[in-house]
Amino acid sequence: MANPQLTAYISLVTTSGVLILVLFIYSFVKRKQTPFAYTFMLFTFTQCIYVFGHAFELASNTLEQIKHWTMVEYAGMPFAAVLGLIVILKYIGKTVSLRTGLLMCVIPFISFLMVLTNDYHHLFYKAMYLRADAPTPMADVSIGQWYIVHGAYTFGSLFTATVLLIRRWRSTKKAYRFQLATLIISQLLPMSAAFVYLLGLTPYGMDPVPITMCVTASLFIWSIAASRLLTIVPIAKESIFESMREGVIVLDANRRIIDYNQAVKGMIPFLHSGVIGTSLDDMWPQLTGKAFPDDVSMDGLEEEVHWPTAEGVSSYQVRSSLVTNKRGDAIGMLLMLIDVTEQRMLQEQLKKLAYYDGLTGIYNRTQFLEEGRALLEDTNRGPVSLILFDIDHFKQINDTYGHETGDQALIHIVSVCQRFIDPEMPFARYGGEEFVIAVPSAALPEAARLAENIRAALQHNAMHVKGQAIAVTSSFGVVQLGDHESLEAILRRADEALYTSKKDGRNRVTAAA
Ligand code: GH3
Ligand code: MG
Ligand code: MG
Repeated sequence: MANPQLTAYISLVTTSGVLILVLFIYSFVKRKQTPFAYTFMLFTFTQCIYVFGHAFELASNTLEQIKHWTMVEYAGMPFAAVLGLIVILKYIGKTVSLRTGLLMCVIPFISFLMVLTNDYHHLFYKAMYLRADAPTPMADVSIGQWYIVHGAYTFGSLFTATVLLIRRWRSTKKAYRFQLATLIISQLLPMSAAFVYLLGLTPYGMDPVPITMCVTASLFIWSIAASRLLTIVPIAKESIFESMREGVIVLDANRRIIDYNQAVKGMIPFLHSGVIGTSLDDMWPQLTGKAFPDDVSMDGLEEEVHWPTAEGVSSYQVRSSLVTNKRGDAIGMLLMLIDVTEQRMLQEQLKKLAYYDGLTGIYNRTQFLEEGRALLEDTNRGPVSLILFDIDHFKQINDTYGHETGDQALIHIVSVCQRFIDPEMPFARYGGEEFVIAVPSAALPEAARLAENIRAALQHNAMHVKGQAIAVTSSFGVVQLGDHESLEAILRRADEALYTSKKDGRNRVTAAA
């Protein structure tokens, strides 16, 4: 005849089981939106085995039946505690690899095997017998050596999880506190119950943990409804810090490096854990060749830095912001490094397209006019002369050898000219096969001499294409800038001088006063 109190008690345990089953099904249905659904499913599944196994144990009439259901319970309980810890670790943003997870389950697995084979070694239970004092058939045990290992490990898992969660309390936003409280209770309650049980303080040596699960599972369900526990979980701030694409270096109030994220390691090759504690003022010059800006308030500093890497020069924009405590005192500083290498490269390319001739790589006409104007406006300048030249019978080269060879002739001309041209002389492709050189600090005779040297060099350095030597000569016009003369006017005069050279038979220099 069943004892009504026992029946009520078993109903309560079964209710725990059903609630946990609801959680299991919920996490299965929501597995796509749940960050660690599978761990949670395993967790609730093992809890179910434990709780239902326990219900059957309570309902058992013989010691044999009790032993049998105890084995079932141990297929769940030792694992549930560890899986609970893994759930919590994942909740707080730690990664637990499959390997680590399996390692953590080694002791529970041994405990399970010990219970299965207890009759052979009695290491888990020294003895198991029916209690004489209980109103219904209940087992009493005297514990063996492995039971202590199992008890300590289970208790330790619950305890660790609880401590990890409590430590989060302060840094957790209010919106997530209910979630956190639910999780803390879900560990604390069974832990306390297990503690009382292990001390042997429960009536008839009953295990109170399955009953506490009625409370924790209800809380979980409430928390899911109220704050979407499981599907909306705060991402731990460390994970955010580590997965940022921007490099972040954290400095203390004395500008010593105290932390940095993963992204910085890719940006600063020599950054390793050994630099923690070193002063930024020592490290910065190594990196940039310059001292770190010595501003008193570094808030909002923006600077661009460059340093060589294996792929070339990398460019980073550095921004700083002060870190303050709640009272507003500066306690440190953040340096944020943003990779702008690609933008800089793109800018360089655009500049090239805008200022330089695509074929020969020298200035284009627009840039020459720009440079020429700047030269004319320079109040400290001395005399300025201009050399304009045009390839002789270029059409013939194109017609005879093809347009491609014509292009090569243009490149050839530029390379010969460059032997005579200083960096301060703007040299440009003025038109199709017309070139111009501005010669600062040179009066007409000096510029004419330079033109003559170039002309002779072109004449004596034929272009070689496919084993064939092709002579490419040019005709030159040289002029000196007059007082108050405009750039347009001097270019016109240079063109006239060039025309004279062409008229007089080409491959010559005409200097016009
Ligand atoms: P001249 O001695 O009187 O200067 O005779 P020319 O044949 O050089 O005559 P002109 O200066 O009028 O010829 C310009 C030719 O240059 C026409 C055009 O086909 C050719 N040309 C202009 N730009 C390029 C270019 O980028 N590549 C090639 N291959 N040919 C070009
Ligand atoms: Mg021409
Ligand atoms: Mg020509």
